[in-house]
Amino acid sequence: MNANGKPMDIEALIESIRLSQEATRLAGPYPCARANCEGQAVMPRTLCLECVAREERAAEAGRQRDAIVSIPQTLRWARFGSPDLEKLCGAESLSKARKAAEEIFTGASSVVTITGSAGAGKSSLAAAIMSAMVCRGWYSSRFLNAYKIGRAYRNAKQGEPPQILTDAESARLLVIDDMGSELVGRDVVRELVHIRHAEGDPTIVTTWMTQSQIADEANGYGDGVARRLFDRAIHIQVGQ
Ligand SMILES: [Zn+2]
Repeated sequence: MNANGKPMDIEALIESIRLSQEATRLAGPYPCARANCEGQAVMPRTLCLECVAREERAAEAGRQRDAIVSIPQTLRWARFGSPDLEKLCGAESLSKARKAAEEIFTGASSVVTITGSAGAGKSSLAAAIMSAMVCRGWYSSRFLNAYKIGRAYRNAKQGEPPQILTDAESARLLVIDDMGSELVGRDVVRELVHIRHAEGDPTIVTTWMTQSQIADEANGYGDGVARRLFDRAIHIQVGQ
């Protein structure tokens, strides 16, 4: 209500808020709300611009850290620029992985399948792609071992999806590492591949299994998964 007892219209209300904020601002500057900071803020009980920028940088570093710590410690060294990575998986695989990273980033491709025998460098290559994405701001990316996905599912309470699966579904980029290593929960891994494919969410799968092994229903995945991972995906074969 205004002074005449009539309801205030919305424009008048917004204008009065603007005027009162202006008045507060004009009365400044105010001391920065952070203890021991000599800076000046434009509004009372707020931070100075330097402190706001510092808080934003800290929050960004935190989100980046959450993504990177999901990569197992033994794989965190893997970067595109690392000579050791080229030595491990070969120049050709590395250049394919760089191209895959570019296509994921631009949205041209959403599934990358990295196959090869144990120790060939599949997981390191996937870690390098993911690190590159995190560096470009994809902080909600997650690196999950298939075995851990299966185990989390087995240990979850009835009717409650484990946190690891919630993260896996919503990750900007999801790496499912070592598919085929999980003793239980292959149906969960299969479902994750389907869900992410349906949504067009970028997914990298590393596996020692061949396309025909994955297509074989007896191994717990089936033809649908095999087609998503091979026919409509970037395939990188590491080693022999
Ligand atoms: Zn300050």
